[in-house]
Order: sequence, then C-alpha cells, then structure tokens
Amino acid sequence: MGLEDRDSMRILRDALDSGAEQLVAEFYTRWFAADLSARDLFPPDMTTQRKVFGHALNWLCDELIAQRAEEPVAFLAQLGRDHRKYGVTPGHYDTLQTALLATLRSHLADRWDRRLAEAVTDVITLIVGVMSGAADAETSPPFCDGTVLEHLRPARDVSVIRLKMDHALGYQPGQYLPVQVPQWPRRWRYLSPSIPADPAGYLEFHVRSVPGGMVSTAIVGEARPGDRWRVSNPHGALHVDRDDGDVLMVAGSTGLAPLRTLIMDLTRFGENPRVHLFFGAKHPCELYDLRTLWEIASTNPWLSVTPVSEFAFNPPWAARYPDVTPPRGLHVRQTGRLPEVVTRYGNWGDRQILVCGGPAMVAATKAALIAKGAPAERIRHDPLAS
Ligand SMILES: Cc1cc2nc3c(=O)[nH]c(=O)nc-3n(C[C@H](O)[C@H](O)[C@H](O)COP(=O)(O)OP(=O)(O)OC[C@H]3O[C@@H](n4cnc5c(N)ncnc54)[C@H](O)[C@@H]3O)c2cc1C
Repeated sequence: MGLEDRDSMRILRDALDSGAEQLVAEFYTRWFAADLSARDLFPPDMTTQRKVFGHALNWLCDELIAQRAEEPVAFLAQLGRDHRKYGVTPGHYDTLQTALLATLRSHLADRWDRRLAEAVTDVITLIVGVMSGAADAETSPPFCDGTVLEHLRPARDVSVIRLKMDHALGYQPGQYLPVQVPQWPRRWRYLSPSIPADPAGYLEFHVRSVPGGMVSTAIVGEARPGDRWRVSNPHGALHVDRDDGDVLMVAGSTGLAPLRTLIMDLTRFGENPRVHLFFGAKHPCELYDLRTLWEIASTNPWLSVTPVSEFAFNPPWAARYPDVTPPRGLHVRQTGRLPEVVTRYGNWGDRQILVCGGPAMVAATKAALIAKGAPAERIRHDPLAS
C-alpha cells in the first residue's frame, strides 16, 4: 500500500497536527547528533526552519491523502535544487532519512505496525528521493558570488546596492533572488533585482531596513564596496503580459525594485499596454527613485507615475539626504496610504494588477482593491514571506 494507504497517512498527519513542533525539534536534534556537518548547513536560530519544515510535512501529508502527487513532487524538486546553495551533499540526505524515520517511529510507537512502517518509509523515500534526484539533475551552479561596487543611501532606511557578479546571472524581470551577505553568513534573504539581467553581470538591489531586522539593518548600516555577496537561483513569476491589457502597478518603498525591472524591460518595445505606477512611501523624501521613473516616463508615453506619501511634509532628518523631487512631468504627489489613494481612482478591475512591498502593505492594498470590485485573480504579488 505505502503512499496509497490513506489510513496510515492520516495517522502520520494527525501526529504532525498534534505535535509537529516537538516532533520536528526532535528530528533536527537526532539528525545533528548523527551528522555534525548537517548542523553547519543551518543558521544558529532554528525557529523559522523548524516551522517551515513542520508546515511542509503537514501539507505533504494532506496532498498525499488527497492522492495529489504532482504539486508535492514539484515542490520537493524545487526544495532539493534550492538546498544546493547550503552545500547539502548526498551524505546529508542519507543521515536525514535515517533520523526522520527514527523520529517518526518513536512518535508513532503505539500505532507502529507493518502498514504504517511501509507508508512512513515511502513518504520519507519520496522526500529524499525527489529532493536529491532534482539536486543531482541540476547542472547550473548553486550560487554565484559578486562584489559590492557601490552603496548609496538615498533615504534614511533605504540602500541601493550595486554589485558586479563573477558571472552573468539569468533571471526574468520581476523574479527575486536568494541572497547571502558577509555580515550574516547562512541567513539567506530574498531580494528583487531592480534592473533586468545584465550580460556583464552587473546587479542592483534596493534594500529597506526593517526595524529589528537582522539582515536588512546590517545591509543598510554596514554594506561597503568590496564586500562579497552570494546570490542563488531565481524564483517567482511576477510578470506583465503584454497581450492582456493595461497594467496597474503599486509599489511600497523598495517594493519598487521588481516593478522597476519590469518597466525597464518593457522599454525594449515600441508599443506596450498602458502602465500606471503608484509609488508610495511614508514621507515625500523617501520616494527615493522618482528621478529614474521620471526619466523613463519622459521617453515612454505608455508609463505614468503617481508618487504617494503618507505624510505631506518631510521630517527634520530628511535634510541629510538627497533631494528626490523630480522635475515637473509626473502626476502630482498624492497624500495618503497606498490602499486608499489607489482605490480613490476606481477599482482598476480592467487591469493586470501587480502589487509589491512589505507584507502588510500588499495585503491591505489587495484587500482594498477587492473590496472596490477588482477581481482577485487579476491581482499578482510575490509570496509575502520567505
Ligand atoms: C519574494 C520576496 C522579495 C523580497 N524583495 C525584497 C527587496 O527587493 N528589497 C527589500 O528590502 N526586501 C525584500 N524582501 C524582504 C527581505 O527578504 C527580508 O524579509 C527583509 O529584509 C527582512 O529581513 P531581516 O533579516 O532584516 O528581518 P528578520 O530578522 O528576518 O525579521 C525581523 C522582523 O521583521 C519582520 N519582517 C520581515 N520582513 C519584513 C518586511 N518586508 N516588512 C516588514 N517587516 C518585515 C519579521 O516578521 C520580523 O518580525 C523580499 C521578501 C520576499 C518574500
């Protein structure tokens, strides 16, 4: 029976439902005890990792109970390819398999029989087999290193980081990349390039420091020319369909980066759908990239840009930062929060809608648009968390 044994799958899923946290913690303890080199693959604080692994196991069981294998296999394959950047070897998969089986067996001891053993073994074999198989089959390098050339600070909590990678990267406009910085080894974070892939390997990121955020505050506070950054393979499918009508883009702060890349990519074409971009920040001085947007809009009539700031005036600290007011030509700056300002103009239901920014801003903008009548399936955004 194995994977088709739904009763055994339910027993496994129920065990995960009732005690995933403890089970996953025990699994990692067993694994690291058996294979010290596996410990080095992960950051010191395992809270997020444990949570993600617990959710993934739970979801996998649900899918297998529903007899759906396609998505889990695609997910595990992607996970296997992604894990190459951590330096995972075939040996790690062997020790993982043994530790996971031992953990599940001990948690399910009172129900353990031949059928359950078969189902659990098959689930683990599926996980390990698909992940390691996909990792083996991948021929592209797991990551590429590059050197920071320039660190600009256009606003108090925003950095523009320019790099030259050792090799050109291949990513689609709108995709995001896992990035590791020397200040926080092994703490990978997603960042969205703000320029299309460059054949000479130049790369630019816009980073906003999140209060209390480990990696973003280190980048904004400490990144300097000469730092070596590590960038892994692209994810995401944010895109503009040039045959699917006009476009609404909503960017909060550094959420501008992927939309800017998409806009830059569109400039390759003579004719495009109309694109209306709302670019928002708290204060006017934090609309850090208006000049670039002005330059693109002034030669590409399909693009219009509305700057939006929550407050009408700049705070005193703004005096230390460059004046970001663009020459005349963009729409008049609007005051208010993005969800309110964007929906003042209507529901945009006839547009392809792309929303980028912090998780709260994306969720609020999406909810406001849907409340106004925009069809949810027309609204696209990246995953809200890594
Ligand atoms: C698909 C994707 C693309 C991204 N692209 C970019 C980008 O181009 N530029 C950029 O600056 N950031 C981007 N991010 C966010 C980035 O990956 C990090 O999550 C963010 O920089 C925080 O990392 P940290 O280590 O500083 O914070 P952590 O130490 O991981 O978290 C500290 C606290 O901040 C909260 N937090 C995490 N992320 C955010 C956030 N974005 N806004 C508000 N609170 C947050 C956490 O919940 C936690 O409470 C992207 C995220 C995703 C999922």
